[in-house]
Amino acid sequence: MLRLLRDPNLIHPEKLTLLLNIANLAETLGMSCYLVGGSVRDLLLGRPINDLDVIVEGDAIKLAKKLVEVYGGKQTPHFKFRTAFWHVPNSDHVVDLITARIESYEKPGALPMVAPSTIEEDLRRRDFTINAMALRLDGKDMGEVLDPLGGKADLERGVIRVLHPNSFLDDPTRIFRAIRYEVRYGFAIEPETLRLINPNSLKILESLSGERLRNELNLILDENLSAQMMRRVAGLGVLNFIHPKMPEFDQTYSDYLEMDLNLDIESDRRAMGFILWFMDLSEEDIFLLVNRLDFSNEMSLNVWSGAQLKRSLIHLAGSPPSVWTYALEKLPLLAIYAVYLVSHEDALLSYISIWRHVKPHTAGNELKAMGLAAGPRFGEILLRLRSAWLDGEVNNETQEKELLARLMRGE
Ligand code: ATP
Repeated sequence: MLRLLRDPNLIHPEKLTLLLNIANLAETLGMSCYLVGGSVRDLLLGRPINDLDVIVEGDAIKLAKKLVEVYGGKQTPHFKFRTAFWHVPNSDHVVDLITARIESYEKPGALPMVAPSTIEEDLRRRDFTINAMALRLDGKDMGEVLDPLGGKADLERGVIRVLHPNSFLDDPTRIFRAIRYEVRYGFAIEPETLRLINPNSLKILESLSGERLRNELNLILDENLSAQMMRRVAGLGVLNFIHPKMPEFDQTYSDYLEMDLNLDIESDRRAMGFILWFMDLSEEDIFLLVNRLDFSNEMSLNVWSGAQLKRSLIHLAGSPPSVWTYALEKLPLLAIYAVYLVSHEDALLSYISIWRHVKPHTAGNELKAMGLAAGPRFGEILLRLRSAWLDGEVNNETQEKELLARLMRGE
């Protein structure tokens, strides 16, 4: 395992030094120190690791304070879970420092109660065997893998297995996590674990907050294979428990998630995902889902706009550019682009790349100089000039001035 840890293709040498410094300091404080969770899993899979989850038997907050004392940077403690983030000085690395702990659930779906404990106990509170391994970083046992739950064998077999039968009842968000790992690694959810994804555990999803559910869906949308994951979510009967109106993700839209926007629209994979996902829903259903998932105003506007625009296409088809432009102007560009992708309506692309930038040359203060008093007529004239440009009625500044003169004469 030391070989993997020292492989610069898997872990950047700078990060390795960081880990070893942390481990040395932990040792001086009498705490044993491990790399844990996803990073151990990915190292064993020969995949490069990004996040560093470090766990100590002792007190992570104390270690974080000491790291700041010795190396600088900043620490953010989280007292309830006795964890801390260490913001490494002069870099954007953040290390997650965890105190080995034991957890118990007061009621299904609730957040757990925690108490400090041993690394072995800590591994037992985790979601799946493949995520329940630890790699010793300090002392003479450095490089040793702790694998009390058979994670390595499951990695080799390619299976996702929970640690105990109540796992999904304790925390049904693990259902989404199982699906993410299964599809991401091309693994299979082990049959007994699969049986535990049933109406008993799914029912608990109904009591989860919108924020927790949305977070899980966001994590799926962040993945390369998100459309396949959403198909699995639907296949396991999860959608109905999120909300009865929750639709399936249209798999023919999956390529659109991978689109690299070459237009000057801020790309946002999550927003794109939800716009596509909800695009064929009625306004009422969107309202219900936006509430259930506790969307921000911005995200709500995105999904509402996508669906609304798709429905309006039939009425807008064949309209002159000015009509398109004024209909689209209030809608988020990303929603317009999403509707373009699924409908191939060229007017939408023309709006995004050309029409929205078309403005008349005449400015408001010129109208004022021409003696026009401020009032609604002002805006009407400017709008009329813009439409003339958009619809090809004027093609140069002279023509615009002529039209303006006619409008000023009230013609
Ligand atoms: P990813 O590659 O998706 O980031 P990860 O394993 O690093 O995978 P995190 O969400 O960062 O995932 O979680 C870190 C570790 O914490 C996991 O490997 C797992 O051991 C544990 N964990 C996270 N969420 C849960 C959960 N809901 N229940 C139990 N253990 C969890």
